[in-house]
Amino acid sequence: MVSMAESCEGPPLIALRGIRKHYGGGDSGQPAVTVLHGIDLDIHAGEFVAVVGSSGSGKSTLMNILGCLDRPSEGSYHFQGQDVARLDADALAWLRREAFGFVFQGYHLIASESASENVEMPAIYTGLPKPQRVQRAQALLQRLGLGERLGNRPNQLSGGQQQRVSIARALMNGGHIILADEPTGALDSHSGAEVMALLRELAAAGHTIILITHDRSVADQAQRVIEIRDGRIIGDSVGQLGQDAAQTDAKGSGSERPLSAIPAIPAQGSASTAPLLAELAEAARSAWRGMRLNRVRTSLTLLGIVIGVVSVIVMLAIGEGARRKVVEQMGTMGTAILYMGSQSPSTGGPAGQITEEDLAALRELPEIRRVMPVIGDPITVRYGNADKQIYVFASSEEMPLVHHWKVGQGRYYTDAEDQDLAPLVVLGHKAHQHFFPDTPNPLGRQLVIGSSAFEVIGVMSERGADSGAQNYDDMVFIPYQSGRARVYQAQTQPDYVVIEAVSSDLVNEAEAAIRRVLLERHGGREDFGIGNAAARIQAEAATRKSMAVMLGLIAAVSLVVGGIGVMNVMLMTVRERTREIGIRMAVGARQSDILRQFLTEASLVTLVGGCVGLLAGLAVGMVLLVLDVPLVFSVRAMVGAFVCAVLTGLIFGYMPAKTAARLDPVRALAGE
Ligand code: ADP
Ligand code: MG
Repeated sequence: MVSMAESCEGPPLIALRGIRKHYGGGDSGQPAVTVLHGIDLDIHAGEFVAVVGSSGSGKSTLMNILGCLDRPSEGSYHFQGQDVARLDADALAWLRREAFGFVFQGYHLIASESASENVEMPAIYTGLPKPQRVQRAQALLQRLGLGERLGNRPNQLSGGQQQRVSIARALMNGGHIILADEPTGALDSHSGAEVMALLRELAAAGHTIILITHDRSVADQAQRVIEIRDGRIIGDSVGQLGQDAAQTDAKGSGSERPLSAIPAIPAQGSASTAPLLAELAEAARSAWRGMRLNRVRTSLTLLGIVIGVVSVIVMLAIGEGARRKVVEQMGTMGTAILYMGSQSPSTGGPAGQITEEDLAALRELPEIRRVMPVIGDPITVRYGNADKQIYVFASSEEMPLVHHWKVGQGRYYTDAEDQDLAPLVVLGHKAHQHFFPDTPNPLGRQLVIGSSAFEVIGVMSERGADSGAQNYDDMVFIPYQSGRARVYQAQTQPDYVVIEAVSSDLVNEAEAAIRRVLLERHGGREDFGIGNAAARIQAEAATRKSMAVMLGLIAAVSLVVGGIGVMNVMLMTVRERTREIGIRMAVGARQSDILRQFLTEASLVTLVGGCVGLLAGLAVGMVLLVLDVPLVFSVRAMVGAFVCAVLTGLIFGYMPAKTAARLDPVRALAGE
């Protein structure tokens, strides 16, 4: 046995001492097997080493340990003097990325990516900007004779070509140490010879090559041949290349051709060097490709999200539409309004009299804010030669407040003017147009109402068609007391009284208080009636509200169901793409890179689903509007649904992404 270690100077690049690897045993339920039985091995920079042994002798296990894809069960591994056992996951990823380049028997190319993209991949994780990345990948492929095949996918390449692509990938980040596991195993003898020639060339260029093979004749082409049997090194001899080199050495040409040195391993937990945005863009690009390749599955997942978003948008719009409808029904009167008037008691007898004293007593009640008596009838109103039957509304100065209605021009009469029986009139918008079509400012003109003259002091603003009270625009408004004195002389009491409770929560209390006071004042006879429309409207509003909440809940559930769909697909994707994850880890992806990639994919699906859902929701809404369903789109609901959809993707995508990131590189590569 000839050890090569003494022939090389300096500390070894790789130093293994007493490496053992056990599988199974413990609580795994599998019988314990020991695959490596104490391996001691030094490899120096620039060596071309072949590890040869029959199938099952532990070569691949050894290579996985050398390449930091796997950890030994016992023993120590020093890389450039540093103990690998002490490195964290990110530092190991750094080693795989910067120091090693893997070439596998099965090539391990990502099937959905082109030759050039496969070669670029290791540089994505070092943060090399895209133009340089593409340039270098293409230069490498050109050098390996694949200049014509840059855009081909792996299944459009022969085995030999695929292996050259994987060699180019190994070289992408420098490939200081090339670990090749049976690189010629799946190739015909011609392609195999080509690959071997390539490896010899790389060795000559200064790369450290560790070649694993079961084929003695392949191994012999290396500089140093290590023989392994049943997990033990049984031979370490000079290969043919070594003898050639020795001869060259004898001729005195010198054989040490150091490649640029491997940089020191950065401090543990080294963060990503790639700009976040570039990495996200890269993840989005590959996610987009994955979605396109699995169109049917993607569209089914999208459907879940789209239905969720559409239902949130449409249901909330319907809920809001129903609510608005109720508000409209309330008109502009608000929800704190009660009506009261005299009527015959149900037990028979004459109707009651609502007196001024009754109203004064009601005004004293703490539950009541305003008491507005109203008398109104169509009366002939005249200006010059024009006359018309007009509804003359006689009430207190509180009318604009009770009706939430603004005076457009001039002013409303005051309580003092009302008490003084002042002959003043305020016109509705249409009444103004009727009597004074050519007079924009009718203030100061005299209208004859019945047989008395009234001075115009104001014009109300237009209520419009959608207020639910547009006929108010036709009326004229006069003070209650002067109305009784000058127009409605025969009237002994108000037609009805509008009562406003202090708040809409207190309408029922106000109703009870009114009843109590009037019963007391009317000697216990219920010769009056109280209309509580507010309570009815409130009850209706409450029903609509609970309906809207229910619709919202249904919508939310469908969004969650959509999210579970995303999770399901992502879990399937992770399972399907275990090998791809393994490959990415072998070329140096950190756990965070894998996590980010899968999260990006999940959120891309939901982002697209959210956009489509938004548009579809609007479309469905338009159709419903055409069908006369009252609905009101809310920007808040749309933004909310969209944000929820994307969040759903992130939340439900996180678990699968975490699963992917936690995969063990060796097991992932094996596709387990
Ligand atoms: P080689 O590459 O030399 O053919 P391997 O290193 O792949 O051999 O495997 C060596 C031995 O270890 C084989 O007997 C194999 O069955 C066993 N082995 C490899 N991986 C595992 C594993 N994950 N669990 C249990 N046994 C394993
Ligand atoms: Mg093997």
